[in-house]
Amino acid sequence: MKRIKLLYRTVMLISSVICLSLQGANARELSTSDFTFDGPFGSAGATIERVGANHFKVVLGHAPEHPTWCNMLQFQILQNAKGNRLRLDVYFFGGDAYRFNHYAHSSWSYDGIDWHPIKWQKETQKSSEGDTLLFPKFEKDTVYFGHQVPMSYENVRGMMEKWDKHPHAKLHILGQSLGGRNIYRLEITDPKSPHPRNRRWVHYFGNQHPGEHNAQWRMAGMIDWLLSDAGVDCRRRSISHFILIMYPDAPSHGWYRVGLQGVDGNRSYSVKGADKQKQPHEAYIVQKDLEMLMASETPVTDLWSMHTWGGVVEPIMLVGPEIGTKLPAWTRLKEIIRQNDPDKLIKPLAIREKPSNTAHWNNGPHVQFGITTVLCEGAGNIITKKENMASGVILMKSLAQYYKDTK
Ligand SMILES: [Zn+2]
Repeated sequence: MKRIKLLYRTVMLISSVICLSLQGANARELSTSDFTFDGPFGSAGATIERVGANHFKVVLGHAPEHPTWCNMLQFQILQNAKGNRLRLDVYFFGGDAYRFNHYAHSSWSYDGIDWHPIKWQKETQKSSEGDTLLFPKFEKDTVYFGHQVPMSYENVRGMMEKWDKHPHAKLHILGQSLGGRNIYRLEITDPKSPHPRNRRWVHYFGNQHPGEHNAQWRMAGMIDWLLSDAGVDCRRRSISHFILIMYPDAPSHGWYRVGLQGVDGNRSYSVKGADKQKQPHEAYIVQKDLEMLMASETPVTDLWSMHTWGGVVEPIMLVGPEIGTKLPAWTRLKEIIRQNDPDKLIKPLAIREKPSNTAHWNNGPHVQFGITTVLCEGAGNIITKKENMASGVILMKSLAQYYKDTK
């Protein structure tokens, strides 16, 4: 009996020692080698140094060809996060053109899929004065961090391949970016629709500023709705195209507005026609594809240029020939969006009388082809994936109602 008791005590002692040492391991402080800026959510040129226990200073790098534009803060903690409360002080010394903290919130995640908003502490206007992030005590060892509600190229590829499995979706690979990543266009329509293809409305949605991720989640919401049971009628009467990201090399570098060649993504349209010499590589590929669609039996009716700036979603339209003729006035679409948007995620639709800079993707196609175009801005203040996607559902549902019947 005595020996059994002794054995029992010994076992208990050993297991408590193991337990303590495990706790010790979990409470190990983070070190700079636990961080990487080179993953799917990356930030080219960022450097990190230790200030104190779980407290680090990060200095951001800049965009290609733009020493005054910071790359957005994105990183991964590869290990040892569990049990630690991280403090990051972030700086950029090149200028304030596009601040890393300009929308008050960024996001962190344990799996790169479910994101939690995190608020910048100071919301400083000068990037050189720095701003701080205070994270809650982590419960897992691996952590992802990104700009707005982030979307990596790997996320894009995964979702595109998933959507492509739907019998009414068709995934086109238009070409490769300079970094060798696919440029995708997803096409959604019911191939067995009783309406001939050339009678269907054609909607086109594209993202030109690759770090404006909230706009990409807006589009993901549109796609999910279209491919759901709610989208059955719309899929019969329309064809919808989605370019979820025109510069797929950007998320792994934290590039906000550019690709490798450093040309602002929304200053890259060539109104005289796609031009291999004058346009950035990726913009040329996408515009050439758009011109192919325009020359086909199913030309685009309305083209949406999807962006993020402050506030809620803000659509601004350049009216094309179907509006107020075959279809009711544009104000009808404004009313429909209002009715579908009880939570006011979208500002009332507005119009612009005249296009401005034709190198913008919301102006250029209107001038080149005379079609309806929409600059769809905003959502910088929408801080969750769920609400960004919900705003897309409202827009898609409203377009399905407004673009009634067929052409
Ligand atoms: Zn933009």
